[in-house]
Amino acid sequence: MEQLSHVTNPTFSELGLAEPICRALAVENYTHPTPIQMQAIPLLLEGRDLLGIAQTGTGKTAAFALPILQKLGRPQQPVEARSAHALILAPTRELAVQIGDSFAAYGRNLGLRHTVILGGVTQSRQVKALARGVDILIATPGRLLDLAQQNHVRLDRVKHFVLDEADRMLDMGFIRDVRQIVALLPKKRHSLLFSATMPKDVARLATDMLHEPVRVEVTPQVVTVDRIEQRVFFVQTANKLALLIDLLKDSALARVIVFTRTKSHANRVGEHLERAGIAADAIHGNKSQNARQRALERFRSGDARVLVATDIAARGIDVDGVSHVINFELPNEPESYVHRIGRTARAGKSGIALSFCDASERGFLRDIERLTKRPLLIEDVKLAPAATPPQKKDAREPDPSAFKRKRQWNRGRPSRAA
Ligand code: AMP
Repeated sequence: MEQLSHVTNPTFSELGLAEPICRALAVENYTHPTPIQMQAIPLLLEGRDLLGIAQTGTGKTAAFALPILQKLGRPQQPVEARSAHALILAPTRELAVQIGDSFAAYGRNLGLRHTVILGGVTQSRQVKALARGVDILIATPGRLLDLAQQNHVRLDRVKHFVLDEADRMLDMGFIRDVRQIVALLPKKRHSLLFSATMPKDVARLATDMLHEPVRVEVTPQVVTVDRIEQRVFFVQTANKLALLIDLLKDSALARVIVFTRTKSHANRVGEHLERAGIAADAIHGNKSQNARQRALERFRSGDARVLVATDIAARGIDVDGVSHVINFELPNEPESYVHRIGRTARAGKSGIALSFCDASERGFLRDIERLTKRPLLIEDVKLAPAATPPQKKDAREPDPSAFKRKRQWNRGRPSRAA
């Protein structure tokens, strides 16, 4: 950004953030802003609308939370019953909870009230939390709309509105709910939209929702991907489970996220691992909110060594020290691959990503390698050492006779993401 071009590494206070916020950031051990924070914070403090092209892992939550906290923090204005001064919409429950935690951490010295509203749990506690009004309301769209329609919350006092992960909102079919919510907001407001990608419908929504926005774009892919050792196993569909269980015999795979493309596969992989004596939980959109939180806690605490997840459920999950990401099935969108492997190698650490690729997934692999501009290292599949494969026609194609264990597993074509 132009104003900051002379400053190579500004501090948070140089970006214009007030002392109580900087103090909270020091507690979080944030010494310097990330690129998106550097670019967005001064503009947001000026009150500009913003279109942010950024994904989880870039520090985008603080990029929008800090200026909003500052604006709400001084001078503080009383909130009316059942209303809110800031509204953050997030596509998944996990992301909403994490955003809530971030507001609590960064705003610890400000005495502002926030609450998180999400589906999958009973509404009575949420209704109670809203009754007095809150400074900051973080919500998933469905439940918020539901509560608004029941008059438990009114949105006409919102001054700051953030739509996070707009492309996911679209994928998950929330765009109509989002538009209905936007219609309940006052016309005059401060609006921000974040999205990792910019499909046509999101661009249209941005045009409708934002007023003369500044566009800020950060692309962390290259940096993230470069720190991650990436390998691929060419393996038959039927042998993927055996390979996974085999790999998990190595204790170096200490904290592992396994990705599947569908919810049912996530369940099945989780069940098979448990049966093999490996502590694992599955997390996806069909699980109740409580089950998902429990699974995350077990994974965070190390009680479960493996978390099996779909792309959507894993979006925004922030767990430190993930040693390995395993793509049990390759994603059909190459960007999801980058999101997935970014779960390891967080906070400057390196990590390992292992991908299982069957014959039907070769095209997905090609797309991924095209995007990351890095061919994945090919690993041998050594499931049955007794069986020596005959000469391979294609060095990338494993010989089926190398596999002794036959399992019924996903014999059909890959299906759409869960
Ligand atoms: P986000 O992209 O908002 O999900 O943030 C990704 C991770 O980066 C979270 O664990 C944040 O706590 C962390 N983070 C955000 N900003 C900073 C910063 N300036 N310095 C260090 N860590 C940060």
